[in-house]
Amino acid sequence: KLSKRLQSIADLVTPGSRIADIGSDHALLPVYLVQSGRCPSAIAGELNKGPWQAAVRGVAEAGLANVIDVRHGDGMSVLNAGDADTVTIAGMGGSLMSMILEAGWQGGKLQQVKELVLQPNVGEDLVRRWLVERRFALQNEIIMEEDGRIYEVLHAIKAANADSHNEALYDSSFLPLKLTESAGRKLLYAMGPLLLREPSACLVRKWQLELAKLERICGQMLQSDTSEAREKEAAFRQEMNLIGEVL
Ligand code: SAM
Repeated sequence: KLSKRLQSIADLVTPGSRIADIGSDHALLPVYLVQSGRCPSAIAGELNKGPWQAAVRGVAEAGLANVIDVRHGDGMSVLNAGDADTVTIAGMGGSLMSMILEAGWQGGKLQQVKELVLQPNVGEDLVRRWLVERRFALQNEIIMEEDGRIYEVLHAIKAANADSHNEALYDSSFLPLKLTESAGRKLLYAMGPLLLREPSACLVRKWQLELAKLERICGQMLQSDTSEAREKEAAFRQEMNLIGEVL
């Protein structure tokens, strides 16, 4: 049985698509997707030797070595044109994830990919920004809690109207706040434009925890009573007020 986190990623993969799971570790996700019949075949990519070996072992033990190809290499360098319809990347920071996505894009590896299912552990804003920049239309965002940790999953597709779709999505005028366009976009990149349209208890909890963390940092900043610390603290306060108002 998959963890709740991996299950919600699996549930967003379009049935029938050939997936490539980048940073697959034990290849749990590709094994599940093929075993359950959701995907006909899969590629598991791993950069590091230990996890790559774990993936090879996991796939062999599941008896799926003929349909899941475990490849050793950096990010999407393991893919060839037309290899995959869906790319999944999960369980790493948004900064590394957007670097992997950008390198894949630059290398032409995403040209024939139709959908992305992404689960950044932190730095979700960077991933959302990348999706807009590279014209993927954000279709769905999930937030959930497992073992005391909160996770977000983003589902985006390649669409001819991605620009206008994203333009409307990141228009913050639906929020009950008066914001400049850039402040509104920044808030939506951080908190999720779809999540914020229907705020769940989990989203509220995530940002309450985040606010408590920012509050502690502010306290520490004020202890080092320099003008730089005071300026930073003021900027933090402003951000915190915005988040607080949205909640
Ligand atoms: N995707 C699995 C999950 O969500 O449960 C495993 C997540 S694990 C924490 C992150 C994995 O990404 C590690 O196994 C690591 O070796 C791999 N990784 C890190 N950088 C990578 C890269 N540039 N290309 C491929 N894999 C990478």
